[in-house]
Amino acid sequence: MTPMFRQYHELKQAHPEAVLFFRMGDFYEVFYDDAKLCSEILEIALTARNKNDPQPIPMAGVPHHAAAAYVAKLTEAGHRVAIAEQVEDPAVAKGLVRREVVRVVTPGVVLDPATLKARESNHMAAILAHGDQVGVAFLDISTGDLRCATVGDLSAAIAEIHRFEPKEALLSPALREHETLLSALKRHRTLVSSIEDEAWNEGEAVGELRMVLGVADLAGFGASERAPGVWAAGALVRYARMVSGGELGNVHQIQPYRPDGYMVVDETTRRNLEISRTLIGGNRRGSLLWLLDKTATAMGSRMLKQWLAFPLLEPKLILDRQAAVSALVEAVPSRESLRNHLREVADIERLVARVAAGTAHGRDLAALRRSLAAIPEVLESVAEISALAPSLPGDACVDVFEELRAWLVDDPPITLTDGGLLRHGVHAGLSELIDMSLNGEGLIAELEEREREHTGISSLKVRKNKVFGFYIEVTRAHLHKVPERYRRKQTLSNAERYITLELKELEDKVLSADERRKSLEHRLFVELRERMASHTLRLQRLAAALAALDVLAALAEVAARWQWVAPTLDTARRIHLEQARHPVVEALLEDESFVPNDCALDDAERRLIILTGPNMSGKSTTMRQIAIAVLLAQIGSFVPAERAHIGICDRVFTRVGSSDDLSRGQSTFMVEMAETAAILHHATPRSLVVLDEIGRGTSTYDGLAIAWAVAEDLAKRVQCRAMFATHYHELCALAEEHSGVVNQSVAVSEWGDEIVFLRTLKEGGASRSYGIQCARLAGLPSPVIARARTLLTRFEKHAPRDEKQQLSLFGSIELAAAAQDSQPTAPASSPTLDLLATLDPDEVTPRQAHALLYQLHEMLVDERNS
Ligand code: ATP
Repeated sequence: MTPMFRQYHELKQAHPEAVLFFRMGDFYEVFYDDAKLCSEILEIALTARNKNDPQPIPMAGVPHHAAAAYVAKLTEAGHRVAIAEQVEDPAVAKGLVRREVVRVVTPGVVLDPATLKARESNHMAAILAHGDQVGVAFLDISTGDLRCATVGDLSAAIAEIHRFEPKEALLSPALREHETLLSALKRHRTLVSSIEDEAWNEGEAVGELRMVLGVADLAGFGASERAPGVWAAGALVRYARMVSGGELGNVHQIQPYRPDGYMVVDETTRRNLEISRTLIGGNRRGSLLWLLDKTATAMGSRMLKQWLAFPLLEPKLILDRQAAVSALVEAVPSRESLRNHLREVADIERLVARVAAGTAHGRDLAALRRSLAAIPEVLESVAEISALAPSLPGDACVDVFEELRAWLVDDPPITLTDGGLLRHGVHAGLSELIDMSLNGEGLIAELEEREREHTGISSLKVRKNKVFGFYIEVTRAHLHKVPERYRRKQTLSNAERYITLELKELEDKVLSADERRKSLEHRLFVELRERMASHTLRLQRLAAALAALDVLAALAEVAARWQWVAPTLDTARRIHLEQARHPVVEALLEDESFVPNDCALDDAERRLIILTGPNMSGKSTTMRQIAIAVLLAQIGSFVPAERAHIGICDRVFTRVGSSDDLSRGQSTFMVEMAETAAILHHATPRSLVVLDEIGRGTSTYDGLAIAWAVAEDLAKRVQCRAMFATHYHELCALAEEHSGVVNQSVAVSEWGDEIVFLRTLKEGGASRSYGIQCARLAGLPSPVIARARTLLTRFEKHAPRDEKQQLSLFGSIELAAAAQDSQPTAPASSPTLDLLATLDPDEVTPRQAHALLYQLHEMLVDERNS
């Protein structure tokens, strides 16, 4: 093995889990399996080193100047990348150039804007089991956001994972094999990383956290040092520090939070309500966020997502936000001006992260300056709006701006070592060097002029040669005027050449001015950056205030655009919406207009609404629009309705029955049941539950029985506000049996053989299901539709006449069972029964069973008719 490959293997051994980028000249090369992986993911050519060897080494490479984009692609695909640089100058190295891994980039530890998605947070998580408690912590190193919570069980911890959707996670030793946890992480394509076991110990973790935050005690942050959530945060910052190779200069605080202080919106609900992505296709367009995100800055966009992940419960907090949105809805010119000026503001949070990490370049500082310059106008736009006063930043960081303005040139280059970064006149030494490097010739000419005057030798010349640099030349005729301080260097036939101390000093300065200017400027820039870093916390607070203003303005913009209304909010257990709409369906409808609907749920007469209506009539849409209105209301937004009264909900659950979920590798029905079980366990009287066709994924009787029992349990025991859409019309009978249950249906009108969807809700259950009409609309071939109609007529003719009897399905099952009990004798023989008796049910396929059913049915009908 060559020495270089020995070196490669040593580095790879230290970072076995990372793709090793091995710097060779202008390229990063990857070898062996890394090369195969990279060629696949990065779509680059796979070649080989030592092609003529019996076993050539697979190799691929990327140019160093384009490396960031390739690293981004790899981390996005869930890989770590270790960057090995040449740490000595190849020109002076003896033998093999020394290489070291200078940093590791993992999906969670990224600062580079090329790798990060501007409008998405980039959290990593740590989860720690301790006794019957679970600690969770989340860190976004790109913004310095660090939070932790201690929860009662793993399912609560998983709920937090779904809130943050971390890119990377650390698990304490006891959790590493935990299947439920691992599968929750897998859903977000979270990379699971590890850290040494000791990092999780209370003492180690607390010590680490104190060190990073620069405090002797964490109590100042309201964090108990005895809480497992805090220990998880300790392990997390240690990992981030280790991987980034830095000091986490932008992590200055930890925010402990209580998950039960926010509305719980579990992952399935989030998906069903299509909050950040659509259910089918997973697109942003068509999601609630797509409609809401009218923010002007990336920071605002990230904060909006966060608000949606953490809807509030406290009426006062919600109403404060709502008042700010209201004020901005009203003040149209102020809102426009605010949003325009916010567009000038760059991503201060992430700029500050790079400033603190010492990787920000001149353009980054210029972007920071530009952002700070916009603040007075941002504030000016809304100065008159008193409802916004609490949201305004207390500290506009004017001094930081002034310092940047004083030091940094208008348009600095990215490179830090070529000069041209700092203003002339801001630092005496630097100004002199800049002058000298720019007009060294002029300074020499000035000196020449001065010497002529002093000596009175008008022919005196300053010249330069390779042997002794600058010199003064005096012709023989004037030698008697040469002053003492001239030191002779060379004698020519008709002249003497001299140097002076001043000339040599000037020469030194001029010749090296450029080099010295570049290095001094670099040093001064780094010092400026360090001074900026000392303002990290102030800048982060300013950024957070701007982001919140941005979100408030965006919510106001959407409310005004779509004519939403400010909901009345309280803790009463009711929801009244008049003329409510589904905001996204409304926005996407092209040919028709959205038909608004009312909704009334309360804790007495209208606790559970059983919603029936044909397929495609709008049941799901109606139910989702109610859940969305509640969610919007609790982030402080207006809601799409003409009037709204919303009693705050502690949790919102939505379940869509039989939604195929192959990604989880579980049967559709099992997923549906597990989700329903979770609702029945976790829903409280303050929750809103929206169930869409639960119980469909199994046989009719089983499905109906389950749907019935679930609805009954919600109405009787849980007593939450709930809506239940179903095709089992039998469920309408629940309203007769239980108080608090009402029937509603989506109206349709019949037009000959056709049906027209009216989209309006009416009281009472649907009379028919119109399944065949819907099937026709969906394009089922005419002969099949015709056959279905014949069969339907036949089924209906032979179904029990009494509708009550039909609805009371369970009654008839029970009756049948009772009848069987009381008649032990075998029933009389008939061809139908004989055929039934000869059947071996285990031997028939479902398809045969289906055919047999028809056959038996027809035989029985014939028997009865004859
Ligand atoms: P299924 O029972 O088959 O699941 P559904 O009754 O739940 O159907 P939805 O999926 O809610 O029906 O609605 C079907 C389509 O009807 C929607 O995609 C939307 O385009 C349209 N729609 C629903 N509600 C309305 C409304 N109120 N106004 C206008 N269009 C609507």
